[in-house]
Amino acid sequence: MPNRPPIFRPSWLPEPKPRKRPSAAQRGYDGPWQKKSRQYLNMRGNQECVYCKMQGKFRPATCVDHIIPHRGNEALRMDVTNWAASCLRCNSRKGDRPVEQFVKELTHGT
Ligand SMILES: [Zn+2]
Repeated sequence: MPNRPPIFRPSWLPEPKPRKRPSAAQRGYDGPWQKKSRQYLNMRGNQECVYCKMQGKFRPATCVDHIIPHRGNEALRMDVTNWAASCLRCNSRKGDRPVEQFVKELTHGT
């Protein structure tokens, strides 16, 4: 195998800085949440994204969406009845909008 040529980097270009991201705990996604949400997604019926299902699509749920945006409200965040199994796509598409609005968008198409 020939050696791969070194990646060219102009001398004026500064070294890329290591990306600093706040830890999961700092972002409010700490141990208990992670453990609980993982358990939630392993529960029967929570393997598929509920929002995709509404559109007749099937995608594996990889995250937990908050039906009512918790906006830092700890009780609301950890309330399982406020959770919905969601794929990453729907989760980020919904953002912290009210679920009614998002569902309307999904079912009526925009
Ligand atoms: Zn989805």
